[in-house]
Amino acid sequence: MPHCPLCFQEQVRPFFEDRRRYFLRCEHCHLVFANPGSYLLPDAEKQRYGHAKQGNKQKQLARFIAMLLTQLQTLQPNSTLSGMNFGRVLAPALLQGILQPQQQLQQYDPFFAPCHQLLHRQYDFVSCYRVFEHFQQPAKEWQRLIQALKSGGYLAISTPFLQSATAFAKWHYKNNPTHVSFYQPQTFHYLAQQGQLQLIFAQSDFVLMQKAS
Ligand SMILES: [Zn+2]
Repeated sequence: MPHCPLCFQEQVRPFFEDRRRYFLRCEHCHLVFANPGSYLLPDAEKQRYGHAKQGNKQKQLARFIAMLLTQLQTLQPNSTLSGMNFGRVLAPALLQGILQPQQQLQQYDPFFAPCHQLLHRQYDFVSCYRVFEHFQQPAKEWQRLIQALKSGGYLAISTPFLQSATAFAKWHYKNNPTHVSFYQPQTFHYLAQQGQLQLIFAQSDFVLMQKAS
């Protein structure tokens, strides 16, 4: 039995199995993850992302970032905001329509915009729209995200939450072979504690955390 790729505990149990993959559930952090032997290789994964229906996802991503910027500007009025959009790049034309003069957004994508220098800076906020479910090494990605946040910085995540074992069996979202990690609110409680973040919100598919000042 593999260990949990997020908290590295060995208390993992079989959770669900279909024709293509089997899934395991960690008893400690409640992550549900696909059998690591079923993970796509990087080339195949990149090809899948290249074929994804980008138009619709781009609009959703633009809405997510616009909403986040509005919220953060309300929390910190009259201040400049520098952020990083991690894992899924928004087209520059759409981004320009969203950003206010006092706002900056860098974008990192491991396949299509792999500028690693961006990961070594720190930001007022980091956004991850529909990215966490793709993490094959969630512990490593989590450390990157924490390190990229300034003290007091915000981390905003959108990922569809796993509802129940029964719902998982019928959930189309698990059928995409690039979706390998699935989260419950308890998983974000674990992550907040582990990263010394305050968990402000974790409901439906949205999570907001703040790094301690
Ligand atoms: Zn775990």
